[in-house]
Amino acid sequence: MRLIILGPPGAGKGTQAGRIAEHYGIPAISTGDIFRANIKNETELGLQVQEILASGGYVSDEITNAIVEDRLAESDASSGFLLDGFPRTTAQVVALDEMLAKTGSGVDKVLELVVDNEVVVQRLLKRAEVEGRVDDTEEIIRERMAIYHRETKPLSDAYAERGLLVTVDGEGEVDVVAERILAALGA
Ligand code: AMP
Repeated sequence: MRLIILGPPGAGKGTQAGRIAEHYGIPAISTGDIFRANIKNETELGLQVQEILASGGYVSDEITNAIVEDRLAESDASSGFLLDGFPRTTAQVVALDEMLAKTGSGVDKVLELVVDNEVVVQRLLKRAEVEGRVDDTEEIIRERMAIYHRETKPLSDAYAERGLLVTVDGEGEVDVVAERILAALGA
């Protein structure tokens, strides 16, 4: 099963990705987590991207695509994966298609978590308090939402045109949303 989870920052993608990945026995691959781990470990990549993450902007497609290609080449991703936070731009969609075409595979389904804009802003503000994430001040949160709507939201239409999009209401309790997702994926 090769899956993508789409949705605005704060939609609960990371939490739900973990559940879905466990259900299918596939790795959940989060580009945001990869970047944050590199920043924490002060790697060359981490130093390169830390200001971008702190500002709420997107890391370049070139850097991001290379990271994903490396990660998908690892053995645990050979029979399936769930991508969380990638692709985020049209160019990344093309790059992913090319990566998968090399092994004769493709994306099976794209899950979009739909959550009201103000609901996610409030969730992110709460998370900022709890986790102390540097990219979670209100100004940066609003910037991230604007970038999401401009750069990433159009991806759901592109995947819908291919007949791959599965849309799920992401509001409500974590367990309830998880059930909705598995039902929608036909798990
Ligand atoms: P996330 O944890 O998915 O919200 O990602 C946190 C941050 O990492 C984003 O705000 C971006 O700065 C960066 N990032 C994660 N995934 C991507 C991607 N696919 N393309 C560009 N930047 C990304």
